[in-house]
Amino acid sequence: MLRLSQARSVVNPIRGVFGSFRTLATSVPETQKGVIFYENGGKLEYKDIPVPKPKPNEILINVKYSGVCHTDLHAWKGDWPLATKLPLVGGHEGAGVVVALGENVKGWEIGDLAGIKWLNGSCMSCEYCELSNESNCPHADLSGYTHDGSFQQYATADAIQAARIPKGTDLAEVSPILCAGVTVYKALKSAHLKAGDWVAISGAAGGLGSLAVQYATAMGYRVVGIDGGEAKGKLVKQLGGEAFVDFTKSKDMVAEIQEITNGGPHGVINVSVSEAAINASTQFVRPTGTVVLVGLPAGAVIKSDVFSHVIKSINIRGSYVGNRADTREAIDFFAAGKVKSPIKVVGLSELPEVYELMEQGKILGRYVVDTAK
Ligand code: NAD
Ligand code: ZN
Repeated sequence: MLRLSQARSVVNPIRGVFGSFRTLATSVPETQKGVIFYENGGKLEYKDIPVPKPKPNEILINVKYSGVCHTDLHAWKGDWPLATKLPLVGGHEGAGVVVALGENVKGWEIGDLAGIKWLNGSCMSCEYCELSNESNCPHADLSGYTHDGSFQQYATADAIQAARIPKGTDLAEVSPILCAGVTVYKALKSAHLKAGDWVAISGAAGGLGSLAVQYATAMGYRVVGIDGGEAKGKLVKQLGGEAFVDFTKSKDMVAEIQEITNGGPHGVINVSVSEAAINASTQFVRPTGTVVLVGLPAGAVIKSDVFSHVIKSINIRGSYVGNRADTREAIDFFAAGKVKSPIKVVGLSELPEVYELMEQGKILGRYVVDTAK
């Protein structure tokens, strides 16, 4: 196994070259291209930045592709009450190849395929980590938020938390699974549905939504998708949605959804970035059903009418990414061909334009950036 100390000596030609590791010498340069910003909402600069050095517990991944999640846009804008690191390289859906190992790393080999997830690392010793709720760890380190992420050609990840990607996987297509896929898969599990139940996906044609429609279908649920515009409706139907409700056209969304689902969906997965949509879901959910909160609009508050909340005995719960088992299972669904990523690939240098489209709600499925362009 090649350790970082060796990898670095290979990189430096003056110290001599280990013949069999020669390819690595070209694969770990000192600098790379990345998109970095110095203040929230500031210029997104595509430029040469240093390649990070893995800590003893980390692997260094040559990121080939990274999905662009709405969370990256929130992080850049500084939308949330948790500060980002600055300067920051965003991105947390990075898929690539392991090119170096920190000295304490076990279970990874150079050349393995690996993924950068939102949860880059956690303490693994608190009560949350102990029960596999690592994303709730108070010391969680977050890719593209508190830890430089995947909008660069080389990124570091804690070896315990990095996602394992099967050999031969299409790295562009798997990248959105690393956040969007894992998150919606876990959110669907959190709704405690059974086969044949109705689930509403609010924000169904976006990055998370387009995968939620497919995971829900693969898990045996009936899907009503909610989003805005004809193109979004068409995508939802293509991905397996049984019905579509256009929030820009519907005169009475609550009545329309309840009629389609014969009394309201048993579960609602809220992946839109809309407070109004989230609040509406507390009204159309079926009695005893579960509203799952996933989307994180800035400053949003959920309001649920207490009388109907009690009489209908509904549940409202949050769901935050997923743990290592959720990640493995979500990738398994993808590897088995049960979910496909509706992606559009552009160059990393085009990230600002992707953010603009995302802000305007104009994205169908997921944009993925190619870090080589
Ligand atoms: P996206 O921009 O790709 O998709 C959002 C979709 O919502 C768009 O298709 C948009 O048209 C639709 N939409 C807007 N207003 C709507 C309304 N009123 N009703 C129904 N649909 C509406 O975003 P994304 O990357 O899918 O992320 C969605 C949200 O999920 C973001 O806030 C992101 O930060 C959050 N997120 C949460 C977690 C978690 O663990 N909880 C993980 C990843 C992302
Ligand atoms: Zn994300």
